[in-house]
Amino acid sequence: MKRIILAAALLLSLAAGAQTRQERLTGHVYYLASDELQGRKAGTEFARMAADYIIGHYSQIGLKPFFGEWTVPFTKYGKEYTDVVGVIEGNDPELKDEYIVLGAHYDHLGVKNGNVYNGADDNASGSAALIEIARELYASRENLKRSVIIAAFDAEEIGLYGSSFLADTLSKTVGKDKIKLMMSIDMVGWYKTSGKLEMEGVATIRDGKNIISSEAERCSITVDPKRFEKSVFTATDTEGFAKLGVPTLAVSTGLKSPYHKPEDDAELIDYEGLDRVTGYISSLSGAIASDPSFEGSGRVARKHDSRRRFIEFGVVAGLQSNHIDFVKSSLLTKRSLGFDAGIQLDFNFGNFGIGTRALYEKQVSEFPDLTDAFASTGSYVQQAVTVPVLLMLKPGDSTADFRVGVGGYYSYVFDSNASQLALPAASLLSPLQVNPDQYGIAVQFGLKAGPLLLTYDFRRQLNKLFAGDGIPDARLLNYTFTLGYVF
Ligand SMILES: [Zn+2]
Repeated sequence: MKRIILAAALLLSLAAGAQTRQERLTGHVYYLASDELQGRKAGTEFARMAADYIIGHYSQIGLKPFFGEWTVPFTKYGKEYTDVVGVIEGNDPELKDEYIVLGAHYDHLGVKNGNVYNGADDNASGSAALIEIARELYASRENLKRSVIIAAFDAEEIGLYGSSFLADTLSKTVGKDKIKLMMSIDMVGWYKTSGKLEMEGVATIRDGKNIISSEAERCSITVDPKRFEKSVFTATDTEGFAKLGVPTLAVSTGLKSPYHKPEDDAELIDYEGLDRVTGYISSLSGAIASDPSFEGSGRVARKHDSRRRFIEFGVVAGLQSNHIDFVKSSLLTKRSLGFDAGIQLDFNFGNFGIGTRALYEKQVSEFPDLTDAFASTGSYVQQAVTVPVLLMLKPGDSTADFRVGVGGYYSYVFDSNASQLALPAASLLSPLQVNPDQYGIAVQFGLKAGPLLLTYDFRRQLNKLFAGDGIPDARLLNYTFTLGYVF
């Protein structure tokens, strides 16, 4: 039955030669986002139906399969998925070995709790646009100097697998330097509501803003060129390519549709807008494929760049437990809770670095009552500005690392309650006076994942905590769990 539905849909849409582009786009979205396709969940027979529909159109338009077969299967964690990759060959004897990759994922979320997630905007809209972009580019193929790869990706929703696979495969076959641009068309069905087409990544292209804007003017479309993809919470199929250093553009009308909800249906799509977007991306990618001077800028969005920057800045806050070690008397005060907060500055040299912080801290430690193990005679409290400096070893990159550091610290104590304390250990001597300049050794273990940092820090004082003659020799100890955010 499913095969019959597919055959009928394909036949109808293929036969409709006299249709306008907008009518064809409408037909594609209504089929791909229909309940028959059950939400096109990656790796299912329903995603395969979508792939077959796309193949039917690509081949009818005249595209050639790039890898010899239309379906490009790959496995990820033991499951099989399928990209569909076609090509329109360029005409320039040299530039035809260079590629512009246009991609749109066709998978969506499937069915959950009996609800079909039809994914009309995400991403039947982009898949439909790509079919019609391919048709326009093919029709004007004698103008194309570079070759254009048209790729329908599987398994975007579960981790960008389809596009990562193609990026990886192309870098091994044609070489990443031959890929001049990758454009991901993802969620382009809500132009009217959005009022603009977002184009993220123009700074990865030399003169990118100008190229994108002047073509938009010609096509009477409002674009919003953004220098880079920024959000750490969203990703699209550009990622695998951008990480190779390929210039990328993420094309979208934004998060206007009922994003990842069962209500993302074909009836809500702005087909007039989708048609406008399709025309614009066709002429933009055609212009880029025909322009020998088109070049990347050599710049990559920070979120796609796994190299560490030389200087990293962050904010940190820690919970401390402190105690005082009376070196010669074996008296150790009880740990009490303190805290710190401040900034962190790291200087990186490959997997090594220098880690510094500037912290305000409040340290607290309780003196035990020597006659009663459960009681205390008072708390020692000091407030200080502390600067630790550590030599770090941190295997990993900017996306994740493990770190170990060894070094020293200096604290300037600007407030303490030492003089008010009457301590058993010091009862026969003059009032306690705190040493305002304190220093010692520092050790750190930590993990960083994305922008988040977690460290465990240990510090031990090397000079005396209390100044003056005849005062027992005491040293401060610090154990701190720190959470940080590195920008
Ligand atoms: Zn999507």
